[in-house]
Amino acid sequence: MLTAALILSSGFAFAQPKVIAHRGFWKTGGSAQNSIASLVKADSIGCYGSEFDVWLSKDDVPVVNHDPIFKGRIMQKSTSKKLAKVKLDNGEPLPTLKAYLEKALEHPNIELILELKSHNTPERETQAAEIIIEMVKKYGLENRIQYIAFSLHATKEFIRLAPAGTPVYYLNGELSPKQLKEIGCAGLDYNLGVIRKNPGWIKEAHDLGLKVNVWTVNKEKDMEWLIAQGADFITTNEPVMLQELIKKSSNNK
Ligand code: MG
Repeated sequence: MLTAALILSSGFAFAQPKVIAHRGFWKTGGSAQNSIASLVKADSIGCYGSEFDVWLSKDDVPVVNHDPIFKGRIMQKSTSKKLAKVKLDNGEPLPTLKAYLEKALEHPNIELILELKSHNTPERETQAAEIIIEMVKKYGLENRIQYIAFSLHATKEFIRLAPAGTPVYYLNGELSPKQLKEIGCAGLDYNLGVIRKNPGWIKEAHDLGLKVNVWTVNKEKDMEWLIAQGADFITTNEPVMLQELIKKSSNNK
């Protein structure tokens, strides 16, 4: 009994955060933020997940990009045909979600952390959530996808529309773990500054059975702090640095 208790408690204490590449692994040759290459490269270095951003184009096609206006094109007001002509910095065409998911099928070990950007109207976000969930289902990727959003409406719509058990996280930072639990989130996915201000939220979330993801953590000292705090996921632009710190921390235990 004692041994089991020790293993259990140490297992909990030794749990290490999982590494999520923010906008994919893009700080490497041939890559770019939110490119298909960034997904492939995140997988190639063994990241747990690749985070990426999604907009719905004017003609209802989900596309992968972070910026509301990218290289002169307004995401929500451009057709997918126009957006397909935009080139990312690595020369790839701006990806559609369809192309991104099709590539994900060739890389079965990486989780897909899909952020729906905040759209002009709640109706548009609902429509985007419906289209995305349908597409994910079509590709059979329901068990590899997690949804995140700054918009509370979008967060609630993913919870309402996605298959039961699909992890949905809220990004905006103002809701407590208890409030997130009440709306059905899998946990919180908050900015480092929010977690630094509310360090008790990590334990509070865990006590409620929620997970904790923190973004965008690019400095060693912040990574070390979150490893020690027991964050479940860390979202970073420096996945290699984080992997090394996690390895070092495991070896020291
Ligand atoms: Mg994002």
